[in-house]
Amino acid sequence: MAEINPFKSLQEQIDDAAAYLDTGDDVIERLKYPERVLEATLSVDMDDGSVEQFQAYRVQFNGDRGPYKGGIRYHPNVTQAEVTALSGWMVYKCAVVDIPYGGAKGGIAFDPREYSESEVERITRAFAAELRPFIGEDRDIPAPDVNTGQREMNWIKDTYETLERTTEPGVVTGKAPSSGGSAGRVEATGRSTMLTAREAFDYLGRDIEDVTVAVQGYGNAGSITAALLEAEGATVVAVSDSKGGIYAADGLDTSAVKTHKRETGSVVGYPDADRELTNEELLTADVDLLVPAALENAVDAGIAREVRADVVVEAANGPLTPNADDVLTDRDVYVFPDILANAGGVTVSYFEWVQNRQRFAWTEDRVNDELERIVTEAFDRLVDTYESTDVPNFRTAAYVVAIERVADAFDDHGNWP
Ligand code: GLU
Repeated sequence: MAEINPFKSLQEQIDDAAAYLDTGDDVIERLKYPERVLEATLSVDMDDGSVEQFQAYRVQFNGDRGPYKGGIRYHPNVTQAEVTALSGWMVYKCAVVDIPYGGAKGGIAFDPREYSESEVERITRAFAAELRPFIGEDRDIPAPDVNTGQREMNWIKDTYETLERTTEPGVVTGKAPSSGGSAGRVEATGRSTMLTAREAFDYLGRDIEDVTVAVQGYGNAGSITAALLEAEGATVVAVSDSKGGIYAADGLDTSAVKTHKRETGSVVGYPDADRELTNEELLTADVDLLVPAALENAVDAGIAREVRADVVVEAANGPLTPNADDVLTDRDVYVFPDILANAGGVTVSYFEWVQNRQRFAWTEDRVNDELERIVTEAFDRLVDTYESTDVPNFRTAAYVVAIERVADAFDDHGNWP
């Protein structure tokens, strides 16, 4: 597959939606580029006494609707173009669910599995020290993403607070509950994917209990989406991770698969599967619902032509190339986009930030109820847009809603300086 630049994909998605909007070309052009890019070279002490360099990025894409917001990922494929695309997707994600944030993203190009815990801590703290002038609860609020979680967020909070000589738990979200994290945050991304799938099948007049599911990626988003769909009565027949996939016609026990992955490092080898699958076999499995929950560009046009699911709900950010999107639209496969389906993560990050500012913790039920309200309202708004305009698919409907909200905020304050 030719390398697809995710930043170009984002710009194409914005252009696709612009055709259905009255927003001026000059404003659309402004919404296609980041406001600011920080690139840092971190020099970090290794356990063996050597010093190693790491490339780190933080992109603040747009702040028209509120402070910049978005995760930090640790992955060897992190590039400035990738982080920029991901930061733009955060802008439109926050706008689709109408929470008062702009969008940002960060990343460090390395594989944390190749480093000790104390090395990962020093890398994280070095990045946090670089980020310090750019972040803050009213400025830019990092969060977890691929290969980061509560541990990294706790280190970032501690580094920031120690250097600033203050307490400011809302400087970062996705923390452990004992450090000011919110109930329900760990499950939030998967929960919004499940809610989107549930609403999608309801919209299509189909019972979720009759739905078979394939999930690509069994990290935080994929494993929790699978568990919550299973709890709704759907049958999860296929799951995979970077090492391969597994299939069971009668359904997998998603929690037993998770235990197997925790113990062995992969879903592969799970004893109660009928057979193993390649990545491509998983994506083209004969199921009703496909949930890509891994990385960008997992589905290209060639795979899209072979997809047999009739609904795709994106738990990952940017898992379809623009060409794959066109193919699936032409084939009448319904795609419910990332900026709605995985927005639960940032939505509960928003709840965490609100709780941190109020120094008042919500119950898990309250978190889940508010999340469900926000996701279902956003879903209904997309359906209205899809049905009342000529947009070809739900992704374009989502961008139409989101761009309008960002452009309105820009219009309200005007262009300065
Ligand atoms: N990394 C998540 C995302 O891509 C969550 C971001 C956040 O909570 O700020 O949406």
